[in-house]
Amino acid sequence: MYRLGVNFDLTYITAGIVDIEGNILIKESIPTLKYRKFEEIIKDMANLCIRVVNKYGLNIDNDIEFVGIGCYGSVDTNTGIMIYSSYFGFKNAPIADEMRKYINVPVVCENDANCYALAENKIGVTKGFKNTIIVTIGTAISGGIIIDNKIYHGLDFGAGEFGHHVIVFKGENCECGRNGCWAAYASTNAIVRDARIMSIRHPESLMFKMINGDVRLMSFKIPFEAAAKGDVYAENIVEDYKKYVAVGLINIVNTLQPEAIAIGGKIRKIGPEFVKDVSKIVSEKTFGQYEYENKTKILMCSLDYDSVIIGATMLEH
Ligand SMILES: [Zn+2]
Repeated sequence: MYRLGVNFDLTYITAGIVDIEGNILIKESIPTLKYRKFEEIIKDMANLCIRVVNKYGLNIDNDIEFVGIGCYGSVDTNTGIMIYSSYFGFKNAPIADEMRKYINVPVVCENDANCYALAENKIGVTKGFKNTIIVTIGTAISGGIIIDNKIYHGLDFGAGEFGHHVIVFKGENCECGRNGCWAAYASTNAIVRDARIMSIRHPESLMFKMINGDVRLMSFKIPFEAAAKGDVYAENIVEDYKKYVAVGLINIVNTLQPEAIAIGGKIRKIGPEFVKDVSKIVSEKTFGQYEYENKTKILMCSLDYDSVIIGATMLEH
């Protein structure tokens, strides 16, 4: 028997057949086109699943043990209902039931970051640890908590939203509607915002030259690239950014003291040096840092975003 994993993301829906070791055997994506009706999106998702399985020479109803879906939002894993997703605008969307109109196999749903955390815990960088956390840093920040090798969901499946703990009272606006959230300082969107402001104020900066004076061309990589070439303005941005990332991680360590925290998402493209620098700040600033013999390890996720597919096939069903 094979398992089918789906990454139900804002921009793409990707479905893949995964073997028992966590290898993706075949996968295919379609655009999500998220502004459509929920039913239309799920119909396309089901058709994608059927198509991928057929392409591999199998039949979904006979050869697939279950379909696991990693969703961009909070999901009731008992019912397969997406409780809430600020980005999709869904409320109580019955994903599993809707899928079952088209396919006759069990469907389990889970938050995408939780799937990612589970995959890392089973076959990735946090394998071998029992209590771990994944923090994904991209345009937003989300996370997954693994306790005793199991996903921790919280009271109503809302646990792990680390991006929305406030680090600056009355701080920058966050897309969640509050101010000063960690995501408003440590997401890739946040460093882009800060780099834009800095380059407008300092047209003599290398960053400004790299974007030809057009702030729309600013990306999260540019301040890192400019800093590596000695641009002091970019160095300022990057040093502050590392501290912002570290502040949130320190709060997590002080609260839960997991064995390891792995950083994933778009920020992985910056490379392992970034994680090393952040890890140094965390170990210096954690409460009681000199007293604890064992310190929480700050690592970089070893799997890419496809691991949501893999983790989805490792869900309890
Ligand atoms: Zn927020």
